Amino acid sequence: MNARTILHVDMDAFFAAVEEREDPTLRGKPVVIGADPRGGKGRGVVSTANYEARKFGVGSAMPIGEAWRRCPQAVFLPPRGKLYGDASRAIFEIFEHYTELVEGLSVDEAFLDVTASRRLFGDGPTIARAIKDEIRAKQSLTASVGVASSKYVAKVASDLDKPDGLVVVEPGSEAEFLAPLDIKRLWGAGPKGQQALRGLGCRTIGDVAALDAAVLVRRFGEAGGMHFHRLSHGLDERRVSPGHERKSLGKERTFGEDVSDRRVVERKLLGLCEGVAASLRRKKLAGTTVTVKLRFEGFETLTRRCTLDAPVDTVETLWPAARALFHDADRPKQKIRLIGVTVSGFESAPPQLGLFETGGPDLDHRVAEVVDRLSERYGRGTVTRAALLEEKKNDG
Ligand SMILES: [Mg+2]
Repeated sequence: MNARTILHVDMDAFFAAVEEREDPTLRGKPVVIGADPRGGKGRGVVSTANYEARKFGVGSAMPIGEAWRRCPQAVFLPPRGKLYGDASRAIFEIFEHYTELVEGLSVDEAFLDVTASRRLFGDGPTIARAIKDEIRAKQSLTASVGVASSKYVAKVASDLDKPDGLVVVEPGSEAEFLAPLDIKRLWGAGPKGQQALRGLGCRTIGDVAALDAAVLVRRFGEAGGMHFHRLSHGLDERRVSPGHERKSLGKERTFGEDVSDRRVVERKLLGLCEGVAASLRRKKLAGTTVTVKLRFEGFETLTRRCTLDAPVDTVETLWPAARALFHDADRPKQKIRLIGVTVSGFESAPPQLGLFETGGPDLDHRVAEVVDRLSERYGRGTVTRAALLEEKKNDG
């Protein structure tokens, strides 16, 4: 048997669980981590809701005011990044004890390829139990784990028995396992894709698997059709690739009040670009995909994305792309509630500084590094970009 053994480990209500661990009096109460609800007038979103709060219909990414209306008796807490970061690092250290092939998807979620570890630690379910036990013993937290022969099936499995779940899909039974599940669990099927699949008479993944591949190709094109065909049969050859722990890096801001002045939005976007670029350089990352997210009054959210020829990690290269995407997505008659920018599609570290060259991207780099250092020493805002100054002048 040469099937791979892949684990998808996902911490349960991670931020909320860490808070409950730190303050046991929170246990049994609904807990919501996120923006300040301000008695229902708060404007950010829910980051994590614990399972008690989910019983009231509170979920991640919900407007915090809505969460407050659904569950005003919940304990609302602001996120404590350092605390969650420490727990995350400790958990990833546990993963790395069992295999070098750990691919982090976020702070609380990872794929582990344990194929080569079975000789040492036992089969997939044994390793999964050992990891869950070790996380509980060392961090007093619970994780849900899916064990399967591919990333896709492992990820679906980890989600089926939360919290504290362990779902094992034996090699050879993938299609049978997937068959009864709703098509919304088909990776890559967004709302439109699901609608198109329903149009083909599919309600479950099994329905998709029963279709002739040619039917799917006719509807979704060669690549999309074959993707759904293979996935519905549980076939996913993607490798677990460590070293790309971060898939994207972005920042977003909710305005205190919905904004109609586009100059205000542009300035905020420029500031976000600057912050993202500085974080990319600090982490020695550069990416080719830029995504801008816009949320209008009424909470309708749009994203626009583009892929650039060269990876970006400076505000000089990120800003023009982000600005163009913003104007592409914008509906000038509507007020804006939130704006965000994300860079993904990371390649290796950006090119080394050419110390004696002038101009071009290297110069951008050098200037950016200097700004970073100044900001580090003297605080942010010491060096203000020319574009920002011009905007301020224009405002009068
Ligand atoms: Mg999680």
